[in-house]
Amino acid sequence: MDSSSPVTLEKIISLCKRKGFVYQSADIYGGLNGIYDFGHLGTLLKNNIRKTWLESIYTANDNIFLFEGSLLGPEPVWKASGHLDSFHDPMVDCMNCKHRYRADEIDLEKACAHCGKKQWTDIKNFNMMFKTQVGASQENAAVGYLRPETAQAIFINFKNVISTNRVKMPFGIAQIGKAFRNEINPKQFLFRMREFEQMELEWFCKQEEAEHFFEFWCQKRLAYHASIGIDPAKLRLRFYEKSELAHYSQATSDIEYHFPFGWKELEGIAHRGNFDLSQHTKHSGKDLSVYDEETKESSIPTVVESSVGVDRLFLTLLFDAYEEQVVEGEEERIVLHFAPNIAPIKAAFFPLSKKLNEPMLKIFHAIQKKGYSVQFDDAGSIGKRYRRQDEIGTPLCFTYDFDSETDHKVTVRDRDTMKQERIAIDHIESYLKNHLTKKE
Ligand code: ATP
Repeated sequence: MDSSSPVTLEKIISLCKRKGFVYQSADIYGGLNGIYDFGHLGTLLKNNIRKTWLESIYTANDNIFLFEGSLLGPEPVWKASGHLDSFHDPMVDCMNCKHRYRADEIDLEKACAHCGKKQWTDIKNFNMMFKTQVGASQENAAVGYLRPETAQAIFINFKNVISTNRVKMPFGIAQIGKAFRNEINPKQFLFRMREFEQMELEWFCKQEEAEHFFEFWCQKRLAYHASIGIDPAKLRLRFYEKSELAHYSQATSDIEYHFPFGWKELEGIAHRGNFDLSQHTKHSGKDLSVYDEETKESSIPTVVESSVGVDRLFLTLLFDAYEEQVVEGEEERIVLHFAPNIAPIKAAFFPLSKKLNEPMLKIFHAIQKKGYSVQFDDAGSIGKRYRRQDEIGTPLCFTYDFDSETDHKVTVRDRDTMKQERIAIDHIESYLKNHLTKKE
């Protein structure tokens, strides 16, 4: 077996379309740039990402509370958080063709890549939040914004979580949910979108413990990405230089992945000091400090944050799993080497002939009832069916043939090694379970 040409963004986009992982949103109306819909396999993959993330957070500490905040927030929240005044990117337009660019991403000494002319407007700051009106009448409507990050909803509910869960510090609040950014130049498919999903943990602790927890969460988060099968050689932790830090941050590091377009941020981990809670205390007039029984003093907790995009991780998993393999004497195959906990479909079931559909459907339904995400396929040659499953990353395929009627066995084929063996029908579930949970 030989591995052929390298993975590219175009190959991933084509696979996602072909197999129904991702669709361009509102495609039949010409689409909406930077916004995507997810099909059957994409939804299953996203669910697995969310599930494994939650498991990894839960098992890292017993003091984690779940939260689901609203998507719309009133103006004062974004004033306090700083988003209203400083959540913008520099933008520049070509006066000739009207193409818009992020000013920090192009060389303004050069001509417009779109039309070849060099006629730039002045650089303007463009706020990336989506603004809307909440309420029916123009005069009385309040201004609301779609949240550009999920974190602020956690900060403003911080006291509610403490009082309703009788929680003591240190503790964390975890949230998965949508965020919206009117990016000037959405690009690289799911890497930079206008509507995307974040998985965030806000960890509240004492100031003197924050450095320890920052390091703790950096290591935990790095281990998570390896636990869902991402090649550790393509992951790195990059600590920010002092000059790169946000004014309130004491330390930040990105978990970066080596994409075909370079090392880029996959997840951000930040020691945010007590900036957020202090800002909301100041702007809301509500005391967000916590009383410490030991020291008999109140203080505003320090926050360590971990934030990763579901969609950016989705794209990372596809890049990492994709391989075009040249198999001796056979056609080239595309295979996604998804880790079993991430694979959207865990196993596929094939009757060798349609005449055998009935017994194989019985087995298929029994496994499905156990809660496994599985597929049944009776169309085309077995070789073609294997290829279809390889391309969506299904770890195992089971085939029922005419001998199965008498020996009560099926053939099981492994996606990665392509090895086949015969196992008893009664052992299918335990075989599947072992395979999906085995450590490499
Ligand atoms: P970048 O520098 O790439 O714009 P950021 O530093 O603005 O990212 P954060 O605000 O730290 O990103 O958001 C946390 C995580 O959310 C990122 O690490 C990324 O995984 C994801 N994310 C941020 N912006 C987008 C986007 N426009 N589309 C998809 N995912 C995003």
